[in-house]
Amino acid sequence: MFSRRHIKLLLIGNAGVGKSALMNQYVNNRFTNYYRATIGADFFTKELRVDETLVTVQIWDTAGTERFQSLGAALYRGTDCCLLVFDVTSPNSFNALDAWHKEFLVQADPPSPEKFPFVVIANKADLEERQVSPRQVQEWCKTCNAEYHETSAKEATNVDEAFLRAIKLALKHKLPGNSEEESTSLLEKQDNKHKKCEC
Ligand code: GDP
Ligand code: MG
Repeated sequence: MFSRRHIKLLLIGNAGVGKSALMNQYVNNRFTNYYRATIGADFFTKELRVDETLVTVQIWDTAGTERFQSLGAALYRGTDCCLLVFDVTSPNSFNALDAWHKEFLVQADPPSPEKFPFVVIANKADLEERQVSPRQVQEWCKTCNAEYHETSAKEATNVDEAFLRAIKLALKHKLPGNSEEESTSLLEKQDNKHKKCEC
């Protein structure tokens, strides 16, 4: 018997770093050079099997142009793992991770922020004009206990692996019985049982 789990991943980072391209590569195995600004937020779902668990992953892609304006706490709430994306050819996009990280914690307001899983994605690793060194990224990742992955959405390098790690961290963080969803259904069951007893 397989168990079923639902998780939510959120991609944030400056405009143009490749959030939509990463999602498109992961979900549809496609890459396009055409740049279309994401308006507000988009989400896609993907189903996969992780060991004995069937996982439905909801992946939210946000528009970076709205940086530091509230995209609405509703978008951030319920996230099980946050992917912080930057572009290795843009030091600005790397420097912005700090603010994105803080913004996420304020908006999502997770119960134990120090334990919340973050994955840092250094995208566009296929480009030669790299300006952020892996060492710099590792140093930053230590400050918030984030995992670090380098990807190229263009060449489909390491994209599946990075998402799979995010999914596994999300599953581990959101232990069964820990989530609101599952505890609500448990309460409902208890409630039904209670009603039956009264009859
Ligand atoms: P977003 O604003 O973060 O969603 O960024 P997009 O996904 O729209 O990508 C911005 C631009 O960068 C587009 O022109 C993409 O084709 C390009 N791009 C995205 N990922 C990569 C990558 O891994 N390598 C290269 N060379 N270009 C990329
Ligand atoms: Mg986009």
